[in-house]
Amino acid sequence: DQYTRNKLGSKKERTLALIKPDVVTKIGDVIESIYSSNLIVTKAKMTRLSWSQAADFYMEHQSKPFFNNLVQFMSSGSVVAMEIMGDEATSVWRKLLGPTDSAAARKEAPQSIRAHFGTDGLKNVGHGSDSLDAAARELEFFFPSTIGHGPSNTATFTDCTCC
Ligand code: UDP
Repeated sequence: DQYTRNKLGSKKERTLALIKPDVVTKIGDVIESIYSSNLIVTKAKMTRLSWSQAADFYMEHQSKPFFNNLVQFMSSGSVVAMEIMGDEATSVWRKLLGPTDSAAARKEAPQSIRAHFGTDGLKNVGHGSDSLDAAARELEFFFPSTIGHGPSNTATFTDCTCC
């Protein structure tokens, strides 16, 4: 499930951190920010989405004017999908990303990842699930648990000793 309990009983969330094609070469900086925020990476996969996979992933935005650009961008190069885990991981990661528009991020949240590495309102470094339900759905999208999917290139680190 999305939660796991450590030895002290604190509740940790699992959520999706998706690194978009614009910053795949800056993945080290992004991962450093994740660990600095007391989150850890528990699964990771570099992949490239087809147009229709990107459209499926962003289905909720299909009626928006930016949908085509978004799908085009998301399928234009490699992405890195990570399952990250920690206290309030969903909101902590979204806060770490900052406002959607990178220019707004530079004004309103200058320490955020989008402020540092984002280009504009489209090329904005990363995606974070906006709720626990979305996190469950989006983790399943990149790390399907269904038996029968065959071997995957997913690296899984489940035996973390620190939490
Ligand atoms: N987006 C865009 N133009 C907009 C709003 C969003 O190109 O006016 C893109 C941007 O890449 C954003 C993604 O669509 O990250 C999803 O939008 P959402 O509103 O869910 O923002 P997020 O949750 O990623 O901050």
